[in-house]
Amino acid sequence: MSNSEKPVSANFIRHIIAADLAENKNNGQVTTRFPPEPNGFLHIGHAKSICLNFTLAEENQGACNLRFDDTNPEKESVEFMEAIEKDIQWLGFEWTAKYHASDYFQQLYDYAVQLIKSGDAYVDDLSAEQIREYRGTLTDAGKESPNRNRPIEESLALFEAMRNGEFEEGQYVLRAKIDMASPNINMRDPTIYRIRKVHHQRTGDQWCIYPMYDYTHCISDALEGITHSICTLEFEDHRPLYDWVLDKLQTPCHPQQIEFARLQLEYAVMSKRKLNQLVTENHVNGWDDPRMPTIAGMRRAGYTPGSIRDFCERIGVTKKDSWIEMGVLENSIREDLNEHAPRRMAVLKPLRVVIENYDNTAEEVYQIANHPQKPEIGTRAVPFSKVIYIEQDDFAENPPKKFKRLVEGGEVRLRGSYVIKCEQIIKDADGNITELRCSYDPDTLGKKPEGRKVKGVIHWVSETHSLPAEIRLYDRLFRTPNPDAESHFLDALNPDSLQILENCRVEASLADAPIESRYQFERTGYFCVDSKDSSSEKLVFNRTVTLRDTWTQ
Ligand code: ATP
Ligand code: MG
Repeated sequence: MSNSEKPVSANFIRHIIAADLAENKNNGQVTTRFPPEPNGFLHIGHAKSICLNFTLAEENQGACNLRFDDTNPEKESVEFMEAIEKDIQWLGFEWTAKYHASDYFQQLYDYAVQLIKSGDAYVDDLSAEQIREYRGTLTDAGKESPNRNRPIEESLALFEAMRNGEFEEGQYVLRAKIDMASPNINMRDPTIYRIRKVHHQRTGDQWCIYPMYDYTHCISDALEGITHSICTLEFEDHRPLYDWVLDKLQTPCHPQQIEFARLQLEYAVMSKRKLNQLVTENHVNGWDDPRMPTIAGMRRAGYTPGSIRDFCERIGVTKKDSWIEMGVLENSIREDLNEHAPRRMAVLKPLRVVIENYDNTAEEVYQIANHPQKPEIGTRAVPFSKVIYIEQDDFAENPPKKFKRLVEGGEVRLRGSYVIKCEQIIKDADGNITELRCSYDPDTLGKKPEGRKVKGVIHWVSETHSLPAEIRLYDRLFRTPNPDAESHFLDALNPDSLQILENCRVEASLADAPIESRYQFERTGYFCVDSKDSSSEKLVFNRTVTLRDTWTQ
């Protein structure tokens, strides 16, 4: 199903846009944008914003731009930009045009000169600390800077000298002249330009002054003709500044800022600063570690683009902050894979089983359905032989009550094959079980055994035909639902979030499994071929999700 065919649910932003269209506001145009800062990889929270912006444009035959908000050169990089583009495309969206805030540096500068000329901005030499002190608090009005009424000509000359690199960092800033007594602290003469003598990944050393976010964002939106500028709730208090800048500059277009609640996901952190710390301090193996809530991490874990879009649609768009359980995200991929992933057999912790009465030379191969409900996706060949592996857990020497799998002297059915009976347990010198000797009943292939009931069905692989594999099991990265609430979020890391099983065996049909292909390993979970470490010598699988929800315990 393409994006546009999916059923959509109403939300307050869709209502606003429908009302605007009914009034023919913006000449019936809808133009949105997704404006990431390239200082990290995208995460599932960004996916919510991406889905919202791109889908709203798509639904209304409008446009959605990708705009890199690249005004903090120290923290940003081309590598992050490339990763961001790749993730958006992988999610299935195409931007109408790609821009960078840095494309507008000259226009932003010219607009700043215009603000100085109209008496709406001034150059200040207060230190950052003084500016903070003068700003006042929520209960106390701020104090005006002694430079607030600096003559326009003087500010113009100083701003030009700032641009020409004549001052040190921090020596001067350009501030908007608004209202030091405003109840909204953002309106107390915010800084709009600062001196940063750093190289920019795109503009090189052309600039040594850089515009601040609030000033840059609204003008960039206006220059691109954005009609609806959608952002998260913490920018609600910045909206008066957004509007003030555009009103003062009389820009030809004045976008409407609309805020929605950001996604907060349990057992995850989403701030890029924190995600960056997890990566640089090696708490995880890179931005695309399958435990990361990044798009790249989820992709590597086996999430599909459709499952992420489905999740974003399901959680909805509101103005109220709320927490989403990890189980909701996992259900989206579980439902997707349950429907689409072919079934395979893999033994995670192998126990060798020798079927003593089976003919060594028999070459039996079964055709087993790829999907129980989907005959149209065909079958695959599964060879059987005298020596097979089953899961260690599918045998119990001292079985608990109601144990339906293999026990000494008991019978179990091998999935798609015969009923076997355990005749003897073989142990090593330390008493560990190393092998089972079994017999099989030749009369049970595709048939019920005569005169008795065998309830258990277990998966297996043939020793000679199966392939070695490494299987990585992931658990939640944090032990507590809100790691941000800890005095230090790293204290909440789950030390057991990754378990590597190195001696697994998977069925022969997986020999050519392409990277990122996804499967249900019967009775075990959903798995995906790792995109970085898997090779034909050693297959590596990541567990995407368990078969059932294990979070609500
Ligand atoms: P961080 O503080 O972690 O760097 P950010 O919000 O500053 O995050 P940006 O790259 O500036 O990250 O975000 C790009 C867009 O994605 C913004 O429009 C922002 O509102 C949106 N966004 C970021 N995080 C979330 C979230 N958790 N839920 C919904 N939207 C989000
Ligand atoms: Mg940001």
